[in-house]
Amino acid sequence: MKVVVLGGGVVGVTTAYEMQRDGHEVTLIEQREAVAEETSWGNAGMVAPGHSFAWSSPQAPMILLKSLFQKNQALRFTPSADLRLWTWSALFLAQCTSARASLNTLRKHRLALYSQGVLHETIAKENVAFDNNAKGVLYFYRDQASLERGIAHMKILADDGQEMRTVTREEIVKLDPSLAHSAHKIAGGIYCPTDETGDCNKFTQGLAKICEQRGAKFMVNTTVTGLETGPSGITAVKTNKGDVKGDLYVLSMGNYSPIIARTVGINLPIYPVKGYSLTIPIGNHGAAPTIGAVDENNLVAITRMGDRVRVTATAEFAGYNTSHKPSDFTFMKGVVQDLFPDGADYDRAHMWAGLRPMTPTNMPIIGPSKYRNLFMNTGHGHIGWTMSHGSARLAADMIAGRTPAIPLDGLAA
Ligand SMILES: Cc1cc2nc3c(=O)[nH]c(=O)nc-3n(C[C@H](O)[C@H](O)[C@H](O)COP(=O)(O)OP(=O)(O)OC[C@H]3O[C@@H](n4cnc5c(N)ncnc54)[C@H](O)[C@@H]3O)c2cc1C
Repeated sequence: MKVVVLGGGVVGVTTAYEMQRDGHEVTLIEQREAVAEETSWGNAGMVAPGHSFAWSSPQAPMILLKSLFQKNQALRFTPSADLRLWTWSALFLAQCTSARASLNTLRKHRLALYSQGVLHETIAKENVAFDNNAKGVLYFYRDQASLERGIAHMKILADDGQEMRTVTREEIVKLDPSLAHSAHKIAGGIYCPTDETGDCNKFTQGLAKICEQRGAKFMVNTTVTGLETGPSGITAVKTNKGDVKGDLYVLSMGNYSPIIARTVGINLPIYPVKGYSLTIPIGNHGAAPTIGAVDENNLVAITRMGDRVRVTATAEFAGYNTSHKPSDFTFMKGVVQDLFPDGADYDRAHMWAGLRPMTPTNMPIIGPSKYRNLFMNTGHGHIGWTMSHGSARLAADMIAGRTPAIPLDGLAA
C-alpha cells in the first residue's frame, strides 16, 4: 500500500518507520528543510514514563487562575480572543477531576512504558546515534514539605509499576557528583532509574535517514495546504508543489494537524502550549550535569545531551507564536547556573521556543477518522518524544488489523 505521512516530527518519522517495516511504500511530507525542526527540535529529551502525569488535574484550575495575576509563574495563561483557546480550555477543565486525572495519568503511563520498550527495540536494531543517557532521571525538591508532597504524588505511578526510589541529598550527590556544591539547596528527590534522556532531533533525523536508505521518499520544503476528498475518501494531499496521492494518509502534523483536519470537517482538540528551551555547550567546564533532572519546585528540566546541556521550562498559552526574547530565559538560566556554576558556557546558550501539541486529556489521538483512508497519529503534548515510538507501533497495528500490545482506551479523538 502507498502510505503518505503528513508531518516530519518525531511522530511522523516513527510512523513512517513502522509503516515501512510493515512493507508499505512510504512518502513523508514536511514543510521545513529537514525533519524534526519544529517541536521535536528543542524538547527536554526525557524519555520519562516517570513523568507521565496528566496536566489536567484538580490543582490545574487554581494554578491557571493564579497565573492571570502573578507574573513569572511556570505557567503563563493570557486570555485572548481566540475561540479555539476557550473551547479547548473548557474541555481541559472537564478533565480536571481527580478521577479523570488518575485515569488519564495511568493511560499515559501505560503508553509511555510501552513506547520506551518500542524505542529500545528500535535502537537495538538500528544504528541511530542520539546522545542517549540511560542513567535514570532525578526529580528533586527544594524543601522537605514539597518532597513529601512529591512522594505522595508519585505513588500512583509507583503502584502502577514505575521503578523509583526516594533519595537523600547524599545519594543525589552520588547520582550526580556535579551537584556536590549545590546539594545544600536540595532536600531530597525521587530517582527513576529506568527513565532516560536523548536528543529527539538527532534520533528523528537518524531514523529518517534509515527510512530513506530503504526507499522511503521524504518531500521536504513541501507545505500541505489541504486534503482533497471524493466518494472513496481522501483522494490527494494538496501541497505547494502539487498533489500527492496515496492509498492511506496519516496525519502527524503536531500543532498543525487541526488546521488541516478542519479543511475536511474534522475537529481535533489540540491546542499549542509554548515552552522555552536553552541548549548550552559544555565547553571545557568540569562540572556539567551527568544525568537528567527536574527541579520540581521551579519546574525546570535539565538534560545532558553529549557535549551540551538542554534546559527547558514554562507552559504558556500564546497561540501559534514561537517568538522569544532573552528575558524569557532569565529565570531558567539562573536556576541551572545556580545549581551547576561550572556546568556549561552559559554565555553561548542557544535560545529556542516550541509548541507542545496538547489535547485536553494529554493523551494523543491515534485511530481512524470519518474518512476510510485518513488515519490520525497526533496531539502528543508534553511527553510526545516519550510516547511517539509506541504510538507509531499502535498506529501500524491498527492499520494492519493486528491486535495492539496495549489497550487503546483514551486514544480516540
Ligand atoms: C519545551 C518543551 C519540552 C519538551 N520536553 C519533552 C520531554 O522531555 N520529553 C518528551 O517526551 N516530550 C517533550 N516535549 C514534547 C515533544 O517535544 C512533542 O510532544 C513532540 O515533539 C511532538 O512531535 P510531533 O511530531 O507531533 O510534532 P512536531 O515535531 O511539531 O512535528 C510536526 C511536523 O509537521 C510539520 N508541518 C506542520 N504543518 C505542516 C504543513 N502544512 N505542511 C507540511 N508539514 C507541516 C512541521 O514542520 C513539523 O516538522 C517537550 C516539548 C516542549 C515544547
